[in-house]
Amino acid sequence: MGAMANPVILTVDDDPVVSRAVARDLRRRYGERYRVVRAGSGPEALDALREIKLRGERVALLLADHRMPGMTGIEFLEAAMDLFPAARRVLLTAYADTDAAIEAINVVDLDHYLLKPWHPPEEKLYPVVDGLLEAWAETPDAALTEIRVVGHRWSAPSFKVRDFLARNLVPYRWLLTDDPEGARLLAAAGATEADVPLVVTAEGKTLVAPTTAELAGVVGLTVEPATDFYDVVVVGGGPAGLGSAVYAASEGLRTVLVERRATGGQAGQSSRIENYLGFPDGLSGAQLTDRARRQALKFGAELLSTREVVGLREAGGARLLSFDDGVEIAAHTVVLATGVSYRVLGAPGVADFTGRGVFYGAVSTEAPSCVDQEVYIVGGANSAGQAAVYFARYAARVHLLVRGPDLTASMSRYLIDQIERSDRITVHAHTQVVGAAGGDHLEQLTLCNGRTGERRTVDTSWLFVFIGAEPRTDWLDGVLVRDGRGFIVTGPDLVVDGKRPSGWSLSRDPYHLETSLPGVFAAGDVRSQSVKRVASAVGEGAMAVSLVHRYLEAQ
Ligand SMILES: Cc1cc2nc3c(=O)[nH]c(=O)nc-3n(C[C@H](O)[C@H](O)[C@H](O)COP(=O)(O)OP(=O)(O)OC[C@H]3O[C@@H](n4cnc5c(N)ncnc54)[C@H](O)[C@@H]3O)c2cc1C
Repeated sequence: MGAMANPVILTVDDDPVVSRAVARDLRRRYGERYRVVRAGSGPEALDALREIKLRGERVALLLADHRMPGMTGIEFLEAAMDLFPAARRVLLTAYADTDAAIEAINVVDLDHYLLKPWHPPEEKLYPVVDGLLEAWAETPDAALTEIRVVGHRWSAPSFKVRDFLARNLVPYRWLLTDDPEGARLLAAAGATEADVPLVVTAEGKTLVAPTTAELAGVVGLTVEPATDFYDVVVVGGGPAGLGSAVYAASEGLRTVLVERRATGGQAGQSSRIENYLGFPDGLSGAQLTDRARRQALKFGAELLSTREVVGLREAGGARLLSFDDGVEIAAHTVVLATGVSYRVLGAPGVADFTGRGVFYGAVSTEAPSCVDQEVYIVGGANSAGQAAVYFARYAARVHLLVRGPDLTASMSRYLIDQIERSDRITVHAHTQVVGAAGGDHLEQLTLCNGRTGERRTVDTSWLFVFIGAEPRTDWLDGVLVRDGRGFIVTGPDLVVDGKRPSGWSLSRDPYHLETSLPGVFAAGDVRSQSVKRVASAVGEGAMAVSLVHRYLEAQ
């Protein structure tokens, strides 16, 4: 990787003849300054865009055919807007589809529609594209606003920085220390290979092995609250927290959402959510998160990143929350939406390779490195299934390790079908990881068949773990009633044999999502007995806000 890559012009058409012809015409005129990328369907084009995003490259123009099976050009352009909002959008239509094209001007903010055939290009195609590229070149997106990260492929701190930037949807360019530009940047910063990761901002500021809070500051994420008193503090930025923030702020409540890592929570890691209402073609967790973030900010909610809440207490009518650095904020009400975190795989050796071959969750930053590799995934639920389907696009083979006899016990049928249809995924039943070994990164796994006891060793550098999750609510010990597994108990479940929870000071029973501390609500996966789904988390987030109103009115 040397100088910055040329910006991309992406064209998508299901008809290979048309697709080749468009790409040829575009390359002829723009090939020197732009990289022309061709895709045969909307989903394929979206995958290409995601990779381009991960590499920190820019997209100047999207040119999509309208009539494509599965995903229309308008649907593709709408989804693509989430990834590259500044890219110019052109729809290629037949005369009969001009109504759809005109409608798309509103739906996807279309810049232009071109009628087929576009020949001769000198008259019909180039004048349009010239104008659009000129307009794009003047946007900030076109400028060199990228962040560069220099690191080692197998350095866990380097991975942490890349993962943080990717989850927060901050574009960056990844350079290895032995890449000439990486070495040059290291030397310029007076750093050595031992100091990585090195982060260089668009303004040229350098940070050596920054903390996530330092990184958040330089990439423009908000880390400090604007005030010290709110109507509602939402803790956790997954679907439940974002749902709460959108509803609370849109209804005029002074709202702050506090997130310790990156907004999106578990859903943000999902490569494809197919069962969320209103998105028949599915959408990625990153898309859902980005839209929800923008929606919350539009209504005036504050979103704080990299702040972990470590304490909750009552102070008169107010609820006080403390952050890990001792800062406190107060509010009339609190919505706890802290979800669950992955359980850690305890087999000997595995912990040594976290971030260096062993990853928790589907880590999209690593997907391009898995090309033609043997990838192992542990887990039998939907999250593991989605990851298997996702990594199968890159890997030579994906091995899905499950403890039970098959996938039917805990995976949705639509995912099992996709896995069965893939010739790159092998399901290993009754199989567990019992050991890991390697040098500076994972190189081998020992697997054990739970039925026969047979052990074998396999060579691999990639293990993705999805073995269930648990709430991390220790900081609420002694403050709120939790169930035996740490989930927060709410509403009617707090009233046992007609008795309200000890310390409950009001003459009414707790509201449906209210915890044992009045005015503090719990929503989403962290709540005892909740349904672990995106839709229910968003729904509970919204419902908690209606209960916040009820609580405030009675004060
Ligand atoms: C890979 C994967 C794929 C999935 N696919 C689907 C799917 O297709 N369909 C579906 O319906 N469901 C799916 N799920 C489940 C769905 O994502 C969860 O049910 C949903 O995200 C729960 O939302 P939540 O807001 O309650 O919690 P989470 O999404 O877990 O979010 C909680 C947030 O709180 C933050 N947090 C925790 N503690 C603190 C603290 N003390 N201070 C500050 N912040 C804190 C965390 O960092 C996190 O961002 C999937 C889950 C995974 C992991």
